Amino acid sequence: MSEIQSEMEVNLGPQEQLDVRSMSKEALARLEAVTKLDRPLAWVSTLFPALSFVAALALLAFGYGGPVEIAIMLVMAIPTQAGIVIGFHRLCAHRAFEATPGTRWTLGILGSMAFQGPIIWWAATHRRHHKISDREGDPHSPRMSGDGIWGITKGLWHAHMGWLFDKESMRYPGWHRYAHDLYKDPVILRVHMSYFTWLLLGFLIPTVAGGLITRTWMGAFLGFLWGGPVRVFLTSHAIWGLNSFCHVFGMRPFEVKQDYSRNNIWLALPTLGEGWHNNHHAFPGSAAAGLKWWQIDIAAYVIRGLEKAGLAYNVRRPTPRMVEEKEAASVALRQRLAAAETKTVATP
Ligand SMILES: [Zn+2]
Ligand SMILES: [Zn+2]
Repeated sequence: MSEIQSEMEVNLGPQEQLDVRSMSKEALARLEAVTKLDRPLAWVSTLFPALSFVAALALLAFGYGGPVEIAIMLVMAIPTQAGIVIGFHRLCAHRAFEATPGTRWTLGILGSMAFQGPIIWWAATHRRHHKISDREGDPHSPRMSGDGIWGITKGLWHAHMGWLFDKESMRYPGWHRYAHDLYKDPVILRVHMSYFTWLLLGFLIPTVAGGLITRTWMGAFLGFLWGGPVRVFLTSHAIWGLNSFCHVFGMRPFEVKQDYSRNNIWLALPTLGEGWHNNHHAFPGSAAAGLKWWQIDIAAYVIRGLEKAGLAYNVRRPTPRMVEEKEAASVALRQRLAAAETKTVATP
């Protein structure tokens, strides 16, 4: 196991419990109350953006909306997606780098606006996905619903968004233990506890922007529609595509033990680099998922920029030699498996 991978394993610490001593009674009560909202929020976060997307397209056909609304959507979509990819995923779930408090606040707030759940819950769920990828207990594996076209279709649905409605996948018992280290980070804990404030802000900003730019109530409404739920629809489906499509279709340069992760270039752009999902499963603790010069990874470029500006430090990346060694090991493993298969066929 590479150093970069083992470091991530250390952070998982499943035997450690949530350290509640540092949390106030009110904070604990709020944490508990949020869990009761899981199911309603699953409906709101899936159905509301989807219906809004259809409504926005219909309004566009009738001349309501245009370049201003699309610009508002993009100005909201890119930073909030960066909040998920760089803040929730690479910084918190994998500790692929460290960042100054201001940077942690910024990334945490932006990610919270994406409507994908509070940061510590998100990171804990994702860590469990890596710990038991495509095995019993993986919150969103497309590989646990049987083989054949029907099994894979059912699996794709579950991995994409069905898991959000499944209590066991959403909030399995003791999920906190996957994130004990994050509760100890006062910035991340505060971002987590104030999740709904940032979520609402993510809808308020485009509404105000649309109103101010057009100076009309209709402009405010269209700003809300495109910069709010339409933006959430597009960014969420791109991220969910990593859980579903990237564990079924695509290229697999690395043989990663017991998982089906795949690379998909078409998902690399809308997820700011996360489409290199097999690379990511091979080097989960790396701040970069694109490992070749041509593998576009916008999040990795941003992290490099933050590092140059002194806002990110201790950035972990595999060396070219580590990548080559893992590639060679994958080729050798495939050859061994093919040879074993030929032997089995030859000797009935
Ligand atoms: Zn995965
Ligand atoms: Zn990951």
